Amino acid sequence: MRYDVAILGGGLAGLSLSIDLKRRGYTVIVIEKGEYPRHKVCGEYISMESHEYLFGLCPALTNYELPFICQFKLSSTGGLEFQTRLDLGGFGISRYLLEEQLFEEAGRQGVVFMLNSKAYETHYNVIEEDHTIISSKGEFKARVVCNATGRKSNFETSDKQTRIKGSNYIGVKYHVRLDRDPGFVEIHNFPGGYCGVSSIEDNKTCLCYIVNSKKLNSVGNSIPELEKVYLFKNKRLRKLFTQAEFLLKDPLTISGINFNIKRPATENFFNLGDAAGSIAPVTGNGMSIALRSASVLASLVDSYFSKQISRQQLVQNYTGFWNKEFSTRVKLSRHFQKLSESPFLANLSLGLFKPFPSLAKSMIRHTHGAPF
Ligand SMILES: Cc1cc2nc3c(=O)[nH]c(=O)nc-3n(C[C@H](O)[C@H](O)[C@H](O)COP(=O)(O)OP(=O)(O)OC[C@H]3O[C@@H](n4cnc5c(N)ncnc54)[C@H](O)[C@@H]3O)c2cc1C
Repeated sequence: MRYDVAILGGGLAGLSLSIDLKRRGYTVIVIEKGEYPRHKVCGEYISMESHEYLFGLCPALTNYELPFICQFKLSSTGGLEFQTRLDLGGFGISRYLLEEQLFEEAGRQGVVFMLNSKAYETHYNVIEEDHTIISSKGEFKARVVCNATGRKSNFETSDKQTRIKGSNYIGVKYHVRLDRDPGFVEIHNFPGGYCGVSSIEDNKTCLCYIVNSKKLNSVGNSIPELEKVYLFKNKRLRKLFTQAEFLLKDPLTISGINFNIKRPATENFFNLGDAAGSIAPVTGNGMSIALRSASVLASLVDSYFSKQISRQQLVQNYTGFWNKEFSTRVKLSRHFQKLSESPFLANLSLGLFKPFPSLAKSMIRHTHGAPF
């Protein structure tokens, strides 16, 4: 069978796109190397900009009581603290629950899933005007291919030209119980990184930190040692980690995090979510970018299939949209990343935020988009 659309990778971007396109009447296959539900390293805070789109795609999410987050707190290793109201705000939900619900919704809509299946490469046949996708579970044909395989896929390595060298980061996540105000999202700086604290469903809290891999190497790759030597330099973090009741047996970790911009589209496929470019989590908005790119790509693919635009226009319009909306945000986020991992710069920024709170507001505004 030839599908209208094949989506490689069923994370947040791929699942949302699959539901959106299926609802528009197209046949969709998702090729996902894992299965659901599963935990993922993520701060699990979603900016309100994508609330309407996400809940429209997956009404079952309304069955869950999710914390609304409207305050932001920052602290530095030097003991400085700053807090402000978030104009738009956000909500907390675990990736486990979010992807489980989206997967179930996609199944209800009739999206076909090929799970535990790794996509290797795609080939375009100009005469047939279709793509062959080669995966660990066989070959599939589709008229349009969308790559939503995230930051570190085999598709990235074949797109070397657009890779940007930079520092490597490690991500670590825990689910904990903590007695704290669920209306706050917190970021606490420590030498080499920062830790996000955000409430999710069932009165749980997500503790998620990102750290330069050199710091982990310096303590013999031991997570407990890393926390003792670096995170606990911030007394807020030391207190949070001491008071928390840890719910996951082991921390969840990922390595090789980089904040790259790739190409939104090649002549063979469209990239979305982290596969197009990943934003530093200090801005807390990778998931909204994934959702926004899914919503725009679905609408453009619809226009292409209904012959309102040519394939060339589809590529141009999507590339134009992505660059206009996200490339500055992603580039800016890299500077914030550097700022947040240096105790000196973090202290300096917090020192400035107190007398000039509009500076902090402006930084938050520049890393967020408008509701869609
Ligand atoms: C430490 C950290 C904290 C973060 N915190 C936040 C936060 O609080 N808020 C926020 O908005 N964003 C946050 N982000 C960013 C956010 O996690 C990402 O932007 C988001 O996950 C992107 O979704 P995605 O679907 O593009 O990629 P992913 O969620 O990575 O999904 C990619 C999918 O593709 C599959 N896959 C990969 N390769 C293949 C293949 N070859 N074949 C088949 N399947 C494949 C994978 O199994 C996966 O399911 C954080 C990121 C990090 C690293």
